[in-house]
Amino acid sequence: MPHRTENDPHKFRRRGVLYVLSSPSGAGKSTIARKLLAADPFLEMSVSYTTRPIRPGEVDGVDYHFVDLEKFREMVSNNEFLEWAHVFDHRYGTPREGVNKILASGRDVLFDIDWQGAQQLFQLAGGDVVRVFILPPSFKELHERLLKRATDSVEVIDARMARSAAEVSHWDGYDYVLVNDDVERCFESVHTVLKAERLRRSRQTGLIGFIRGLNK
Ligand code: 5GP
Repeated sequence: MPHRTENDPHKFRRRGVLYVLSSPSGAGKSTIARKLLAADPFLEMSVSYTTRPIRPGEVDGVDYHFVDLEKFREMVSNNEFLEWAHVFDHRYGTPREGVNKILASGRDVLFDIDWQGAQQLFQLAGGDVVRVFILPPSFKELHERLLKRATDSVEVIDARMARSAAEVSHWDGYDYVLVNDDVERCFESVHTVLKAERLRRSRQTGLIGFIRGLNK
């Protein structure tokens, strides 16, 4: 199946986009990812595996595949992850098979992974990854958002705030940086970047024949 593009997908093949969204937790990344997936049928989420406990409202197999440490280690030794990392006190990994399936179906892949994952994926894909970093409007607001979410204990929230500062320090490892002071506007920008990246010349393998034809 051809990859969907802003050009006619039935005429022109192109390489799929590996689209990475990173941010400190609570900066609104999940909301933006959700809106993006709802708005764009040619984009699918890579569902990670994690050893962290499931939060209220989360669904196994949708938000994450929740597994124990033993299962996670087994998957690591079987080389089932494209990348994996320790985040907070838990492990998170991107399944190779899931990503391959999405690409084979002709869709682009959305990753909600941290800077370590973005870096590993970038190396693995020879730089053919689009990396977007979302900043909160302020750390004060980030703290308030985490408190409002109320799914974690005070200790966990404090630890997450400390991690956020560290996460933000890696913003220079990204291609695009956005401040999420308005969810709607931020979502529009993230979608615009995706649409533009789909049109990048280096992805338009299917246009070569078309351009040759133009000259005849
Ligand atoms: P949370 O526990 O709040 O869902 O996620 C914590 C952090 O782990 C987030 O920054 C998220 O982007 C990151 N994360 C989720 N899945 C993966 C993954 O498969 N690999 C890596 N490297 N990070 C991940």
